[in-house]
Amino acid sequence: MAEHDYDLVVIGAGSGGVRAARIAAGYGAKVAICEEFRIGGTCVIRGCVPKKLYVMASRFHDDFEDAAGFGWRVGEVAFDWKALVAAKEAEITRLSGLYAQNLEKAGVEVIRERGVIAGPNEVSFAGGKRVSTRYILVATGGAPTLRPDIPGLEHAISSNEIFDLPELPKSLLVVGGGYIAVEFASVFARLGSKVHLSLRADLPLRGFDENLRRLLDEGLVNAGIEIHRGALPTELEKTASGLVATLQNGARLDIDAALLATGRAPLTQGLGLEALGVAMKESGAIIVDDYSRTNVPSVYAVGDVTDRINLTPVAIREGHAFADTVFGGKDVRVSHELVPTAVFTTPEIGTVGLGEAEAHEKYGRLEIFETSFRPMRATLSKRAEKVFMKILVEAASDLVVGVHILGPEAGEMAQLLAIALRLGARKADFDATMALHPTLAEELVTMR
Ligand code: NDP
Repeated sequence: MAEHDYDLVVIGAGSGGVRAARIAAGYGAKVAICEEFRIGGTCVIRGCVPKKLYVMASRFHDDFEDAAGFGWRVGEVAFDWKALVAAKEAEITRLSGLYAQNLEKAGVEVIRERGVIAGPNEVSFAGGKRVSTRYILVATGGAPTLRPDIPGLEHAISSNEIFDLPELPKSLLVVGGGYIAVEFASVFARLGSKVHLSLRADLPLRGFDENLRRLLDEGLVNAGIEIHRGALPTELEKTASGLVATLQNGARLDIDAALLATGRAPLTQGLGLEALGVAMKESGAIIVDDYSRTNVPSVYAVGDVTDRINLTPVAIREGHAFADTVFGGKDVRVSHELVPTAVFTTPEIGTVGLGEAEAHEKYGRLEIFETSFRPMRATLSKRAEKVFMKILVEAASDLVVGVHILGPEAGEMAQLLAIALRLGARKADFDATMALHPTLAEELVTMR
C-alpha cells in the first residue's frame, strides 16, 4: 500500500499550480489540486487575460479616430460596456473549462474546495476531508491590498471587481501608480470614463526607465486623464449619486467608482503555514530556495505567493521546474534574470534587462543609445504619438544589458528582444542585423 494518499497536493489552481500538477501527473505522480474559486487563477479570471481583452476594446477608440486620416469615414460609434463584460465572461469561462479539462486529461484530481495544510504531509479541505500526501505545493497567488486605510475605504473596489461593474463608470478615480493603476486608467479613459489618477509620487511606474515614465505620463494626460500628483485620497463618502473623494491636495472629486491599485500581497493567511513553521517574510511571502522548496522539506511554493517576480510566465516556469525536479528526476532551477515585461497602457511599454541605474551598478560604464520618433501611422492620423527606444550597452564588452521601449507593440518587441539578450547579443550584433523596413522595430538595429 502506498505510504500516502497522494504524491502531490497542490493548493491553488492558478497558472503555477496547474502547470505543476499537470507535469507532475505526466511523470506518473498521483496528484490532486484544490481551488476554492474558479480554475485558472488571477491571470485567467481577473488578471492578464480579461485585462488584455479590455485593453483591446479600449484601443478601438483611437482606431476609429485615426481612421479618418486614412480616408475612412466612420459613422457615429458607441460603446456597450455590458456587451464587453458578457463577451469577456464567455471567454474566461471557456478558458477556465479548458484548464479543468487539461487537468482531468492529465489524470489530476480536481477538488473544488479550499485546502489548508494540516501537517507536513497532510491537507484538509473545507468539506472536512483530510488526506495525506508526500509533497504539498502552495500556489495560492496574491490578492490586492486595499490602501490607504481611509474613512470610506469600504466604498472602493479592487482590480477583482472592476471587470464586472454593472455600468461603465462615468467618472473613475484610480489610486496608485503601478502596472494595474496605469493600465486601468488607460483603458477606462478610452472606453469613455472621466479618469482621475491619484499618485503618491510625481510620476507613475516607479522603477521603470525615467524617459518611459515621462512619456507614459504625457500619453496618459493626452488621453484626458487628470493626474493628481502626491495627492492620495483622505476620505471616500457615499452620496445619493455616487461617491465623493477628498484628496490630500484638498480636491473633491465626484466619482462613480474608486479603484485602489496600490499593490498586491501574497495569499498566505489561514493556510496553516505558521503552525507548521514555514518561514515567511514580513509581507507574508513564503521564503523558498532556487528549487521553490520551503524550510519544511515536503512543502514547496511557486508563483506570487513567493513574491519573487509576480508575473504569470514566471509562476508557470517555477511550477514546471518544481515538477521536473521533484518528480522528473531532473535538476531544474528557474533563472529570474532577463524576464521581459510589458505594461499594457496606450502607449504600451515593453522592457527587458536592466534599468540604467542597475546597469551602471552592475557593469560600470555604459553606452546608451536612444531614439524618439513619430510612428508612421501618426503621420496621417495626426495623433500626438511618440515612440521611444533605449538600448543600454556595457561599454567594455559591447554586451546589450537592457532595452526599454514605449510605443505600439512594445510588448511584442520586448518578447523577441529577450531572446537576443539571452543569447548574449552585443550591440555589434544589433548593428549587423538587417533592418526590416518600414517597421517600428527596425530602429532597434539602426540606432548608432
Ligand atoms: P505595483 O507594485 O506595480 O504598484 C503599486 C503602486 O501602489 C505603486 O505605484 C505604489 O507607489 C503604490 N502604493 C503602494 N503603497 C501605497 C500606499 N500605501 N499608498 C499609496 N500608494 C501606494 O502593484 P500593482 O497592484 O499595480 O500590480 C501588482 C503586480 O502585479 C505588479 O507588480 C506586477 O508584478 C503584476 N502585474 C503585471 C502586469 C503586467 O505584466 N502587465 C499587469 C498587472 C499586474 P510607489 O511606486 O510610490 O511605491
